[in-house]
Amino acid sequence: MVPERTDTDEFKAQAAEFAAKLGDQKRVLVTTHISPDGDAVASMLSASEILRQLDSDAICCLPDRVPRRYDFLPGADCIIETADLNDKDWDRILVVDSGNLSRIGDLANRISPETPLVNVDHHIDNERFGELNVVYPEAASTTEILFDLIQTLHLSIPDNLATLIYAGLFTDTGGFRFPNTTERTFSIAARMVRHGANPNDIAEAVYASNSPTSMRLLGKALSSLELTENGCLATMTVEQDNSAEEMEDLADYGLAIKGVRAAALFRLEGESVRVSLRGRGTVDVSRVARRFGGGGHTKAAGFTIKGDYDKLRSQVIAALNEEIGR
Ligand code: 5GP
Ligand code: MN
Repeated sequence: MVPERTDTDEFKAQAAEFAAKLGDQKRVLVTTHISPDGDAVASMLSASEILRQLDSDAICCLPDRVPRRYDFLPGADCIIETADLNDKDWDRILVVDSGNLSRIGDLANRISPETPLVNVDHHIDNERFGELNVVYPEAASTTEILFDLIQTLHLSIPDNLATLIYAGLFTDTGGFRFPNTTERTFSIAARMVRHGANPNDIAEAVYASNSPTSMRLLGKALSSLELTENGCLATMTVEQDNSAEEMEDLADYGLAIKGVRAAALFRLEGESVRVSLRGRGTVDVSRVARRFGGGGHTKAAGFTIKGDYDKLRSQVIAALNEEIGR
């Protein structure tokens, strides 16, 4: 039997170093990636609660507004936008759920390279950019790794923290459906329920709180649906507007069709095209995203690129085809 992550000497040493570096600090900046998803926001807020228990003062900062569907997460109202951040001097920086530093947006230019930086993440392509890197790609969510730190450091799990850990697991597994869902996911989720997380409240907030506008956007995306490669590949295209952020799972709908092995969603945002890729089975869409300068997970990845949409679309279709055929 594979030992639990928390039982390994490596993890115990990392947890001790995490507490030594981030505990008892006056000014810790916690942040995550641009276009934050549920795990990103939940990890940032979980980290803030962990730091509070380690007697540090943490400020959570995001490059964008908190997506509306995650503003129910406990502590979300305290998140500051990068643009509103006055301070430049931080004792420590903690980056969660981000595979590299350029993904934290403009903030990367505003932090001094001398400030000790800790990186907690589960992206397979994580660039180990921290002084300490607690990186476990096999973890279903970054909140799973934060839970391991909580256990190893013998911290307590009040109901707000339980909700955050559960929410990260729930959203990064697509509601416990994706292949990263394991026995361990359910075991941690069950423990979080025991500590006060409410599965129905969290599921309703994440999946049943869309605005009519975003549902109409879904309608537009679905009408743009095209199937190619004998029904193995689904593509959709939408013009980006303000409601698009609420529909982060828009890309998943392509995969909801029987027989589809990979799906691409193109969001046209002025000069740029933001592409979300989804795959199933053996298809690894992160390989495709990396070819276009992006990254992500094997089953969910993405990139943003400037250029001609029609040309890009055929290039992406060709690359996905190649990946499907591998
Ligand atoms: P989404 O399609 O939901 O925006 O992103 C899916 C996954 O791909 C997420 O894990 C996200 O972090 C990653 N991802 C999306 N865009 C980029 C990008 O431009 N660069 C990198 N490195 N990862 C991305
Ligand atoms: Mn994540």
